[in-house]
Amino acid sequence: MATRGIRTRHLAGDQVEVTVAAGHPLADLVAHTVAEGLSSIEYLGGIPGIAGAAPVQNAGAYGQEIGDRLTAVTAHDWTTGRTARVPAAACGFGYRTSLFKQQPGRWTILSLTLHLTRSTAAGPVTYQHLAAAFRAPLGSRPPLAEAAAAVLHDRAERGLFLPQHGPDHRQVGSCFLNPTVTEDQAHGLLSRGAPVHRMPEGTWRASAGWLLEACGYRPGTQVTSGVPLLQPPNPHPHRGGGSHRAGFPRCAGGDGRERTNGYWRRPSA
Ligand SMILES: Cc1cc2nc3c(=O)[nH]c(=O)nc-3n(C[C@H](O)[C@H](O)[C@H](O)COP(=O)(O)OP(=O)(O)OC[C@H]3O[C@@H](n4cnc5c(N)ncnc54)[C@H](O)[C@@H]3O)c2cc1C
Repeated sequence: MATRGIRTRHLAGDQVEVTVAAGHPLADLVAHTVAEGLSSIEYLGGIPGIAGAAPVQNAGAYGQEIGDRLTAVTAHDWTTGRTARVPAAACGFGYRTSLFKQQPGRWTILSLTLHLTRSTAAGPVTYQHLAAAFRAPLGSRPPLAEAAAAVLHDRAERGLFLPQHGPDHRQVGSCFLNPTVTEDQAHGLLSRGAPVHRMPEGTWRASAGWLLEACGYRPGTQVTSGVPLLQPPNPHPHRGGGSHRAGFPRCAGGDGRERTNGYWRRPSA
């Protein structure tokens, strides 16, 4: 069975079905679809990991989530011993969660099938942070290649890339989720310049990084003995929503390591 590879099938009009093997890197899939002029997952560029892991936590960034474009996953069900096609509607997708996360050990995802659109325009901008980067209103659709490049640039600015080599390559990954806030709290936070994002189902989520900083975890704070917080790499951490890691403070260990939103890293030279 192939663990890598992308297959494309043209449907009616500008609709395209893309099937990717679970072992294929997600970032490569996004780069491939953008290069092919296929829109709808361009804001997921640069997320580390394999495609098969993406549905598990419904990987998302900058207002797009993998679950939005999935039509189905093929997965081996270890409780029945059978391989099944699980339609997206049965995957239980939510904010960084899914059926596969809720039932650990039951499923091995083998491939993903996505429904994309051939277009020179990216999906609508729903994050204020991206809108500001594009100097375009929310809801606008920037050019596809430009939007994909802007996201990669923004991730690089914030230290949201997993390096291919070196000590930073080995890390525990991400565990922070942006917390839900009430509408009143959201407006209160927005009036203080905090990044707050309205989720498609109407709930509000505030930036965990911004809240931690507001609680006093500012650069220089000693988290514990020998572990001070450092400046986040983003020079405008409070400007907008961005990914769910916007503006997270970083820690430095006594051995010179830093932590960015749950990731330990060494300061670059
Ligand atoms: C620098 C950095 C930036 C990140 N940015 C983002 C971001 O913007 N948005 C976001 O959503 N996430 C982000 N993440 C989190 C991370 O990219 C995802 O969790 C990713 O999907 C993990 O992929 P992996 O291949 O390393 O999976 P692993 O860490 O190996 O596995 C993750 C989970 O998925 C399960 N799993 C893996 N493959 C399969 C499979 N084929 N079938 C069933 N279960 C499987 C594993 O058992 C495990 O429970 C970031 C992580 C880092 C380190």
